[in-house]
Amino acid sequence: MKQNICAEIFSIGTELLLGEITDTNSTYLSQRLRDLGIFVYRKNTVGDNVNRLTQALKEALTRVDIVILSGGLGPTDDDVTREAVCEVLDETPTVDPELFTELKEKFTQRNRSMPAGNTKQAWLIPSAKALKNPIGTAPGWFAQKGGKTIIALPGPPSEMTKMWTEQTEKLLPITNTSLYHITIHTSGIGESDLCEKIQAFTRLDSPGIGTYARKTGVDVRIAAAAQSTAEAKQIVQPVLDEIRIILAPWIYGYDNETLASAIMKLCTAHNLTFSAIESVTGGFLTEQISACPGISCCFKGGITAYSEDSHAILGIDPSMFNGPLSKETAQEMAKAAKKIFKTDFAVAATGVEETAMVAVAGLNDTTTSVVNWPGDREMIRNRVSRTALQLLFETIKETTRSRLQNQSDNSRGSS
Ligand code: ATP
Ligand code: MG
Repeated sequence: MKQNICAEIFSIGTELLLGEITDTNSTYLSQRLRDLGIFVYRKNTVGDNVNRLTQALKEALTRVDIVILSGGLGPTDDDVTREAVCEVLDETPTVDPELFTELKEKFTQRNRSMPAGNTKQAWLIPSAKALKNPIGTAPGWFAQKGGKTIIALPGPPSEMTKMWTEQTEKLLPITNTSLYHITIHTSGIGESDLCEKIQAFTRLDSPGIGTYARKTGVDVRIAAAAQSTAEAKQIVQPVLDEIRIILAPWIYGYDNETLASAIMKLCTAHNLTFSAIESVTGGFLTEQISACPGISCCFKGGITAYSEDSHAILGIDPSMFNGPLSKETAQEMAKAAKKIFKTDFAVAATGVEETAMVAVAGLNDTTTSVVNWPGDREMIRNRVSRTALQLLFETIKETTRSRLQNQSDNSRGSS
């Protein structure tokens, strides 16, 4: 058993180099290897060229223990993964009778005769065992020689992931490295401001801390490796606790949580409901909310009121309508939604191009926030929706916090 097992990932296909398809396979494999405690040192993208692939594979094997390839296992001349692996391991392929029969059977089942080109999908070399492909024609290879492992998987993501989870992972060496990681999600603070606040921790060797600016806000990832997950968690925990306190005003969730799911958690715990109304985001705000599974327990509905005329239909007093950029308009929209849907809270987003106004009508009053930042349409819709959800989250959080505070004051007073 070795301390650190390291790997490189290869995505094979000229269409990947030309930008015609997005490489999702390597993202998937990176995540799986991370969770298995295998360190990924590099990711490579190589076209359908046997010489370049052979050379790149030879180089990778001087650096790492495991090389994982996806793509290039098809039947055509430009599918050259098997050829390159044969070259690297200096072995000659032969047609494996069992694989050949299975392959032929697949074509018979589809009432087709097997083209001669497909024969190479039944190839095997002495160092490789075949990985079955129940949903496609190309079997994979799991080859081991001289302490190195080469794994060749088919390109289509559904075939690749099935082969990986059902057959490949259990063949991998067991590492004595376990990773523990947690991602903190923040909103309403820029990456450089955030980094400044936690700079006492960002240069630590372990746990490693990374910050990532995403469409949803800035994420902070804290990770450590140790002999067991429990030990790795012990390394992460004290730093996580301190960072949590520093970033408390901006944190809305962890790992798979979203702003919408954080809002749902609060609403469910305190039996509250909310609704939405939007113009500038054209339905995007409601889409972000409704993407959260289970949200119907507290989200009663969303209205897209795009033109100024549509506000009259909602019963907004025209004298209160000061154009899409005004605070009053946003507030009136929020109040209208709250009334229509009979909810405890309502969030509104209005605006023109890069200037937007968001408002939240709460239990007693209405709060607003301005968004003013350049960007294309998609960026603006994203940013405005996020600011709206953030304001809603903060308003609900504050309301429930003061409710709890009042309850405890009252119980203290009556005791
Ligand atoms: P096939 O038998 O389908 O030819 P293959 O193993 O030869 O399989 P490729 O020809 O390289 O695989 O890719 C087949 C399809 O799989 C591609 O057109 C693409 O849709 C998808 N694919 C390949 N590689 C990737 C990748 N890295 N990420 C996402 N999709 C991929
Ligand atoms: Mg192919």
